Amino acid sequence: LNERVAEPRGRDEVARLASTFNQMLTRMERSFEQQTRFVTDASHEILTPLTTIQGYVNLLDRWGKDSPEVLEKAIRALQNESTRLQELADDLLTLAAVESATKSMDKRANVVQIVEEVVESAIAHRPEATVLKDVQGTPVAAVAPSQLRQILVNLVENALKYSDPPAHIRIAAAAQGAQVELRVEDQGQGIPPEDLPYIFDRFYRVDKSRGRREGGTGLGLSIVKEIVETYRGDIQVESKLGVGTTFTVILPAVGSDVQQG
Ligand code: ADP
Repeated sequence: LNERVAEPRGRDEVARLASTFNQMLTRMERSFEQQTRFVTDASHEILTPLTTIQGYVNLLDRWGKDSPEVLEKAIRALQNESTRLQELADDLLTLAAVESATKSMDKRANVVQIVEEVVESAIAHRPEATVLKDVQGTPVAAVAPSQLRQILVNLVENALKYSDPPAHIRIAAAAQGAQVELRVEDQGQGIPPEDLPYIFDRFYRVDKSRGRREGGTGLGLSIVKEIVETYRGDIQVESKLGVGTTFTVILPAVGSDVQQG
């Protein structure tokens, strides 16, 4: 912003201003392109279940009154597709609200307690899974508790979802100076190296058909990344096909001066 009100002093200064202006314009163009792309992708994601819903409504209209099988099949499909739309809308709203919601939130998350809650709920849904907890000390993250929970829930759900049952996963957390480090490790199917750079992109799924069938929106990791970036934290992934995946998240600890919002 300072550059915009600066008075040019000599040729060098003008050249520098022009270059800054060009850079700003390029950045704005890129952000506009990304937004357009996002709206296109989101519309496509909405249209897919809607088309299926329309198909089944037509089927019901024609044959539903006479055939209990058609009725049954259509009702299941309509339930699945409307659940899918609901999840998509929930995730889109979460994603859109991350930054604004962060501002008004109390930023003090008891990591031990949140890991405990997330593990308990994960086990309740998948009693066959083994979930190891390894929390060192009593780290407190300078993050809204609901957002830390969201990060862990999304990573743990993926670790379970992309492992053949019975899944074995490990959640580790420790204070590292002014930061808190969280790790979610699985021994699941892993991510192909060529897909790794894209997994945080909105709507990206490694296996499109599997993602749809299992009900994933392809937004889970984008939400995690958006939250992590709001706190100027970091997220890294390491993965080996057929061996497993580890996500490492770095967030500010309470008492550090890198807190946001
Ligand atoms: P989804 O709703 O499809 O799970 P995410 O944004 O959470 O969307 O993840 C994007 C893609 O990254 C997933 O579709 C999956 O292919 C891959 N992925 C994420 N986590 C894991 C994991 N722990 N193991 C293997 N693949 C994963």
